[in-house]
Amino acid sequence: MKSLPELNSNTEAASDDVGIPVSVKIRERLQAARRRFNANDNIADFIQPGELELLLDEVQHKMQGVLDSMVIDTAGDHNTANTARRVAKMYLNEVFSGRYVKGPTITEFPNAERLNELMIVGPITVRSACSHHFCPVIGKLWIGIMPNERTNVIGLSKYARLAEWIMGRPQIQEEAVVQLADLIQEKTKPDGLALVMEATHYCMAWRGVKDMNSKMINSVMRGVFLKDVNLRREFLALIPRER
Ligand SMILES: [Zn+2]
Repeated sequence: MKSLPELNSNTEAASDDVGIPVSVKIRERLQAARRRFNANDNIADFIQPGELELLLDEVQHKMQGVLDSMVIDTAGDHNTANTARRVAKMYLNEVFSGRYVKGPTITEFPNAERLNELMIVGPITVRSACSHHFCPVIGKLWIGIMPNERTNVIGLSKYARLAEWIMGRPQIQEEAVVQLADLIQEKTKPDGLALVMEATHYCMAWRGVKDMNSKMINSVMRGVFLKDVNLRREFLALIPRER
């Protein structure tokens, strides 16, 4: 008899939890920690093991609701039968995975060769989607690094992995370049850092003004690239952009 109230309270606690969507639980953790969760923020630290699969089910369910509201016969139309699941997977596991997974592990090495010459990496292909319309943003990125003796050296391919992680979120190009510059700055600590991103925004090509040729170019200059006009010119002259 004595164990009965305990059993009841346990069952209640468990069933309380069951009805709460996993997105709400993750959101509550973010709010409790006073952490921002904008579209281009990474929230991996607030997702527990196994929850991403539950989030996938939740997004699929809501996506099915969108298709239903668009009056698409997903039961009769074999082309859209699994679209809700496909879109959910594409968002969470592919194009926006940079929100949901932890950053790539990058091994940094001390600058043993004491490199102090301008180094340029690029073009790196970048793929994202705009936060405004969730339309693709596809373009190219160039990174200029001015190292010093204390700069950490990372492999060339690692710049692409860092860029992929930052761009794998609904983004705003001018915020993306700043986020990426902050990350590279933190990992490598160079004397100067320069970033140029040139991208086509398909929300302007597919809809809106329907201009296929308009590109947006953003740059970030830090450290010696800000102070030294010649260095900045050298970097900009060396990146082979089509004009
Ligand atoms: Zn847009």
